[in-house]
Amino acid sequence: MRPAPALFSLLTAALLAVPAVAQKTYLHCGRLLDVRAGKLLSEQTLVIENGRVQAVQAGYAAPSVSTDKVIDLKNRTVLPGLIDCHVHLEGETSKDGFLREFTENPADVAYQAEAHARTTLRAGFTTVRDLGGSGVNVALRNAINRGLVVGPRIFTAGKAISGTGGHMDPTNGYRLDLMGVPGPTDGVANGPDQARQAVREQYKRGADLIKIASTGGVLSVAKDGSAPQMTEEEIRAVVETAHDLGLRVACHAHGAEGMKRAIRAGVTSIEHGTLMDDETFKLMKKYGTWYVPTITAGKSVADSAAKYPTYYGPLVTPKALAIGPKLQGTFGRAYKAGVKIAFGTDASVYRHGVNAKEFQYMVEAGMPAMEALQSATIRAAELLDQTDNLGTLEAGKLADVVAVEGDPLQDIGTLQRVRFVMKQGVVYRQD
Ligand SMILES: [Zn+2]
Repeated sequence: MRPAPALFSLLTAALLAVPAVAQKTYLHCGRLLDVRAGKLLSEQTLVIENGRVQAVQAGYAAPSVSTDKVIDLKNRTVLPGLIDCHVHLEGETSKDGFLREFTENPADVAYQAEAHARTTLRAGFTTVRDLGGSGVNVALRNAINRGLVVGPRIFTAGKAISGTGGHMDPTNGYRLDLMGVPGPTDGVANGPDQARQAVREQYKRGADLIKIASTGGVLSVAKDGSAPQMTEEEIRAVVETAHDLGLRVACHAHGAEGMKRAIRAGVTSIEHGTLMDDETFKLMKKYGTWYVPTITAGKSVADSAAKYPTYYGPLVTPKALAIGPKLQGTFGRAYKAGVKIAFGTDASVYRHGVNAKEFQYMVEAGMPAMEALQSATIRAAELLDQTDNLGTLEAGKLADVVAVEGDPLQDIGTLQRVRFVMKQGVVYRQD
């Protein structure tokens, strides 16, 4: 079968749009954040060629060839592109969220996802980990990579996995005749064999990593938000299968028992982690498990539930009020305990594009601003297994660059007012 002519010319245009230029760009940076050394440097030049950082030079270097480009960021603080390790680009919170599951087609979801992706990139987040949707997130990643639409670099989990009635069962709260019996192809797995099949299914569909829920969650239409929902044997089957396929596993968990099972079974990260106890901290340090806190999401669901009693419905509201406000305190204790932390917000549970609010909450809870910035750059790149490409502005890394006014180490709020965004050498925002 031959592609239709219109599609063919679109593909050709997209291929031609990929920059293959030898032109260099010189970014004159008033201040440059060195997240590896944990230092703020002044008057530096970033030399960028073919989408990568070619050199970092002290002072304001002038181009040697007249066709090279200079971008003046002398009154800005320049830092590596930010990474949010927990977003869901397909959706966004709204009072009619549950109804929309029954009225929107995948194409509607796709257009919304594209808008959320653009908003996220403009907010300075040049890379995200999408921790679950319908599978539109895989198509969105591909469209962005091909240059068809604008958005951050995406590492996606495709559809997330849990047991029947679990947090990732897509039919929770439906009328009986609409529920059907979702199985491993829908991200619903019972027993180790189905868990393996569910992982392989996501791999086949193009996932970059696997997401599971080992406990209940706040926004699923189910009674319990924190009790375990997967056996350790099931989680182990997920992790072993994922590792065979070269994929890491992110695990949603609120209650301590579900977290401990997941940590012992070898997941790479715990998401939310609301009711972590001292034993969990110890276990995470022993296994080298990452913590992705999502404080913003916790605060946001608690706010909405308190302000509008009907926002989430009778099963979800008490969970939002009980679990949401605890995340910031958990984060503060995890930080003090020395758990590895990577920045993540659960954007979609709150409005896309205000992801940088999380920095404020992290600093409020006792993490120094520099470490908060490291969690969204060099540390996040470690979690993604992308340290060759992302997380710092050093020779050889992808040219993902953002700039803000003032000094984010003195005023963390300035990260919510990003003025310049470059992804892989292409400028997407310059105020
Ligand atoms: Zn999430």
